[in-house]
Amino acid sequence: MCGIVGAVAQRDIAEILLEGLRRLEYRGYDSAGLAVIDAQGKMGRLRRLGKVQMLADALDQHPLHGGTGIAHTRWATHGEPSEANAHPHVSDYIAVVHNGIIENHEPLRELLIERGYRFDSETDTEVIAHLVHWEQLQGGTLLEVVQRVIPQLRGAYGTVVMDSRDPSVLVAARSGSPLVIGRGVGENFIASDQLALLPVTRRFLFLEEGDVAEVKRRSVSVYDKNGHAVEREEIESKVQYDAGDKGVYRHYMQKEIYEQPLAIKNTLEGRFSHGEVNLSELGEKADDILSRVQHIQIIACGTSYNSGMVARYWFESLAGMPCDVEIASEFRYRKSAVRPGSLIITLSQSGETADTLAALRLSKELGYLGSLAVCNVAGSSLVRESDLALMTKAGTEIGVASTKAFTTQLTVLLMLVARMGRLKGVAPQVEHDIVHALQALPARIEQMLSLDKTIEALAEGFSDKHHALFLGRGDQYPIAMEGALKLKEISYIHAEAYAAGELKHGPLALIDADMPVIVIAPNNELLEKLKSNIEEVRARGGLLYVFADQNAGFTDSDGMKIIQLPHVEEIVAPIFYTVPLQLLSYYVALIKGTDVDQPRNLAKSVTVE
Ligand code: GLU
Repeated sequence: MCGIVGAVAQRDIAEILLEGLRRLEYRGYDSAGLAVIDAQGKMGRLRRLGKVQMLADALDQHPLHGGTGIAHTRWATHGEPSEANAHPHVSDYIAVVHNGIIENHEPLRELLIERGYRFDSETDTEVIAHLVHWEQLQGGTLLEVVQRVIPQLRGAYGTVVMDSRDPSVLVAARSGSPLVIGRGVGENFIASDQLALLPVTRRFLFLEEGDVAEVKRRSVSVYDKNGHAVEREEIESKVQYDAGDKGVYRHYMQKEIYEQPLAIKNTLEGRFSHGEVNLSELGEKADDILSRVQHIQIIACGTSYNSGMVARYWFESLAGMPCDVEIASEFRYRKSAVRPGSLIITLSQSGETADTLAALRLSKELGYLGSLAVCNVAGSSLVRESDLALMTKAGTEIGVASTKAFTTQLTVLLMLVARMGRLKGVAPQVEHDIVHALQALPARIEQMLSLDKTIEALAEGFSDKHHALFLGRGDQYPIAMEGALKLKEISYIHAEAYAAGELKHGPLALIDADMPVIVIAPNNELLEKLKSNIEEVRARGGLLYVFADQNAGFTDSDGMKIIQLPHVEEIVAPIFYTVPLQLLSYYVALIKGTDVDQPRNLAKSVTVE
């Protein structure tokens, strides 16, 4: 989602800010801007609608010199994407970048207009700039001024404030959106993600909720939400920025689809011993918590929600563990009843998903047994704030539409299912089957990927379609949901998923030759039921694409295209069948000519509510 970068240095920092924005740009955004204070204390500001490259071109034309500055990529929430709404927003000598939403911006705007301020944008952000300006008229340092402004703001946000009359300092405040301080030698930096700062430093302080930081060239002072000076531990980052290059691939998404065998291998590595799952990385307190679990509550959004839905089938069928799954934005705003002995499991690629984080925080007040995060980013808020964490080892995921983060999440969840099953006294054979199936999986996916030309050939059939229906049963129902989500996200074709048994309860009315129906048909005990559902569609002139196990006994016929897939162990079939659906969406998007890696209106790590 939106990116923030800031610097207080002695050298020209415009290029550093720009490189920081480039490194965050894969998350999706609509405009970008920066403001830099020059040696005369004059603030230069440049903003552009569109990609960071537009801003870079503008900067070539109008170079900005100076050692103190702030920069931003915006994902509009209030006010259309436009140059006027792009950040930084200014109020005379004050400049502000901001991630998130100021919920009470309307009354604040009215108040500020009464005070004589004029608004140049439609954003909620601009109220921060004018409030800071107003408050500093009452006196105090920039830090004190920001500390007075914060209690006036409602919502979840991260912000960095600059005053062109004093280039020695930037003030950053974290309230719901991540901010990290990067420490250099005689220079310091701020960003919404450490990735942005890796070219200049590896030493980081992570701000915690409610923290305000005064960042100068040679000092960083942090104050907690009560205004007390606090020390935040400095860590040496080991994060690799491995996003750099698409290599032979046309898109990051394509690269990430093909990386899945390796990503899964990396995720499995070191987590088996003697044919059993070994999650000793969870530490001492894990056994105590896990052995008391009687119920699992999974919380997630988007693709992660779909993986949670698969995990629910697994937890109940393989570990006998009752499990519910809920969308984070629903969970956090409803009064839910907590089951006895319930463990919260949160799923998020970035570990910064605003709704999921808020749900985790809420769960702590509700009396859950504990929390476990499944996440792809070490050191993220979700990981730091959970009792237990299991990392997926997918590597950096750049494509906005998640692929390898999803399949590695499922991999980790299945290992956890095995672990819980053992604690609950499930027959050891179940765990052995899981371990065997997981070990075989990377090679199976490798085999699957070699069929990409077959799937590419199907995509043409979707080029003039506006709707599609995905069907699955059992643990493949959530995979149908994920398939539909992928198609929506990157090809903009409206797609829905149904549990195949639901067809006759409504969606059958939609079936005609313009509505392709994609069916996931592994060779399992539900196959015969699924075949009947397929016949229901055929009888009504529907166009079917059946992704089937080669042993499932399907053959091509009128209105029915069979995609024969290699046989795979039943337990991991949901992970395996995800891959051809990802490829299908990818090739359909290519034909449609959409922006595969940064689909319109979407952002990667969703740090606003
Ligand atoms: N709410 C702000 C705006 O619409 C910030 C959005 C963002 O996080 O990029 O400008």
